[in-house]
Amino acid sequence: MEVHGRCHCGQIEFVTQSEPRSVICHCTDCQVMSGGPYRAITQTSEDDFRLTKGVLKKYYKTGDSGNKRELAFCGDCGSHIYATSALEDGSSAPRFLGIRVGVLREMEKLKPVAQVWTDSKVSWINEFDTLPGTPQQ
Ligand SMILES: [Zn+2]
Ligand SMILES: [Zn+2]
Repeated sequence: MEVHGRCHCGQIEFVTQSEPRSVICHCTDCQVMSGGPYRAITQTSEDDFRLTKGVLKKYYKTGDSGNKRELAFCGDCGSHIYATSALEDGSSAPRFLGIRVGVLREMEKLKPVAQVWTDSKVSWINEFDTLPGTPQQ
């Protein structure tokens, strides 16, 4: 399905294709970089990804596996857009981008189907449904 992304300030906009599902990542890098207890990610191919507005800022990190990862975000508001493998040795194979579900207009349709890095999952996540809630702030 076609999905549409936009950062918080509106400098970045993109369109891409995604399956109607996502994966929850509990890794400590996602916790630190998102500022939240976990992150939801959906996959797309670099070939399908069309940046329709703005210029992405890139940050490179080395994962636990030793592989370099490229993280793209809005340089103005800091919204996270995607993570992918860093381009090395001039490889031209199409990459997969892990799109951050929170920037997508279709987030409601991207229901999680799996969780990864559950070793660092925060213990109280499963208690959300038991908490009192209000429709807004
Ligand atoms: Zn922005
Ligand atoms: Zn992660």
